Amino acid sequence: MGQSEQYVRLVDHVSLRQLEQPCVYDRRRDELYELNQEGFAALTRCRGHLTLAEVGLEPEFQRVCLEEGLLALSERPWPRPLSLGPAPTPSLRYLELQVTWRCNLACGHCYLGPAQAVDLPLEQIAALVREFEAMGGLRLMLSGGEPLLHPRWSEINAILAALPLRRVLLTNGLLLRGSVLAELHCEEVQISLDGAQAGHDRLRGPGSFAGALAAAQAVRDSGRDLSIATMVHAGNLDQFEELEELVRGLGAIEWGIDAPSLSGRLADHPGLAVSPAQAAQAMAHAFGGAFHGHGGGMACGLHLATVAANGLVAQCGFYLDQPLGRAGEGLWTCWERRRPLALAQLTPCAQCAAVEDCGGGCRFRASDPLGPDLVMCALHGVEPVRIGKEKP
Ligand code: SF4
Ligand code: SF4
Repeated sequence: MGQSEQYVRLVDHVSLRQLEQPCVYDRRRDELYELNQEGFAALTRCRGHLTLAEVGLEPEFQRVCLEEGLLALSERPWPRPLSLGPAPTPSLRYLELQVTWRCNLACGHCYLGPAQAVDLPLEQIAALVREFEAMGGLRLMLSGGEPLLHPRWSEINAILAALPLRRVLLTNGLLLRGSVLAELHCEEVQISLDGAQAGHDRLRGPGSFAGALAAAQAVRDSGRDLSIATMVHAGNLDQFEELEELVRGLGAIEWGIDAPSLSGRLADHPGLAVSPAQAAQAMAHAFGGAFHGHGGGMACGLHLATVAANGLVAQCGFYLDQPLGRAGEGLWTCWERRRPLALAQLTPCAQCAAVEDCGGGCRFRASDPLGPDLVMCALHGVEPVRIGKEKP
């Protein structure tokens, strides 16, 4: 049977999304491809009930889709339903669920402060992920606290199993072993490594580095994507060369390095704070993408929301004191209350030569809500005061 007579459909880990642009999303690779309307319309016909000839894709587009593994062929019909609900504007692409505020560590820099026995109810998690998917969501991040400490973790994991989203677990790694890892329905696990052994254990407690490293190796060996998150602090500034070798050796797809803001438990440990220049020097080692992204002339977090363990919905985990609403009201309702910040509203960012790359940095870390994020200024070699004086 020739190729054109075979039935064609989007493979299971690929979904169509009608966001600001029509898109197709490969959740295994975490790759979002923008399409024109014609290509998008053609892919909506690839549901396994028509042959390649009947679908009538433009030849070059068809070649790319088959080569990229977005489409697959079969000699028999193999129907697949495609859900294509409307998405809000701006689109909500990334959702962090802080499923619990329980934790097995007491890290000196934790933005949540002391651990608490507060859990997002299972039924609410199920409703939130359903709504997120229906809104065109791409990437679901399960965080905490330590998410594996949610008393109903195995049921949460069962909900994840059938979810057509990229599922990412953010963990300290200490509980990620045996059947918990083997049965985990996540494409990616992000583990926190806050330094080489001395720096990590200073922040997270003795023995925690060995546990995190073992978990990172186990994630890699399980075939899931591994990403690493690191917080810059006074006790790890001299360890970034060593850490880079370690992170690259682990085969991580992404290394996110962040500088602390004086919130949560860090307010009690001012000795851990670093200068913007020190933070920027460390952050230059980072690689891979980030989910706090900006775009279209808007500031950070344009497509991100967080739901906290107490049910509050916010634009990100740092804004829980200015919530958009409660999870019970529905994600769409809360998301519509969001007022994204335009870069043109920021000073001196609006006049900054680096604004396209930087996007105004982290709005929470900027000491003035409309002012510059000095860490990002240092990272981009920008002198914010001078730019400010040049303002008309
Ligand atoms: S480098 Fe500084 S001034 Fe420039 S956009 Fe970023 S935060 Fe704003
Ligand atoms: S305020 Fe900071 S943490 Fe929140 S979305 Fe922006 S960059 Fe991310």
